[in-house]
Amino acid sequence: MRVFQCLRCDECCYFDNEERGPILFEDELIRIKALARDRGFSIRYRELTINGVRVYRWLIKGYCPFYDRESRSCTIHQVKPLACKMYPLLYNPNTGEVLISKECRWVADTLNSGEDVGIDNFPDEVKALEDALSRLYRVKVRIAGKQYFNSK
Ligand code: SF4
Ligand code: SF4
Repeated sequence: MRVFQCLRCDECCYFDNEERGPILFEDELIRIKALARDRGFSIRYRELTINGVRVYRWLIKGYCPFYDRESRSCTIHQVKPLACKMYPLLYNPNTGEVLISKECRWVADTLNSGEDVGIDNFPDEVKALEDALSRLYRVKVRIAGKQYFNSK
């Protein structure tokens, strides 16, 4: 089994629809706003509630303003939001499903080569997903294999 290795293809930092921008927790929004202010721009966002937790849809049209096209990298990699850290894992709060985005080039290439892709391919991204779910559900969430474990 191959561990996910980002191909730095840029696709997940480009948004053709602003409603597909990353979800931010409140502290992440504050951090991203401050980072944007330091660089002389502002960000747009829309408030949402997931499971009673206030979160924000970061409205991005085109490339993320923190994406550097020359180096093909995120310029806030160390402090990027959990939604970016967990990609290509996605979470659907309406169904409780964790999905693996086929829009990620590594995922598409791996599937096209005939290999299976499961959550075990994404050890680092699973940790970010666990952090995000723990914050949304206010319990410690640990994911093992393809199962969920919730414990206080
Ligand atoms: S914060 Fe970084 S990883 Fe997230 S969309 Fe922007 S450039 Fe991409
Ligand atoms: S789409 Fe996948 S491979 Fe491409 S930059 Fe994003 S995470 Fe990396």
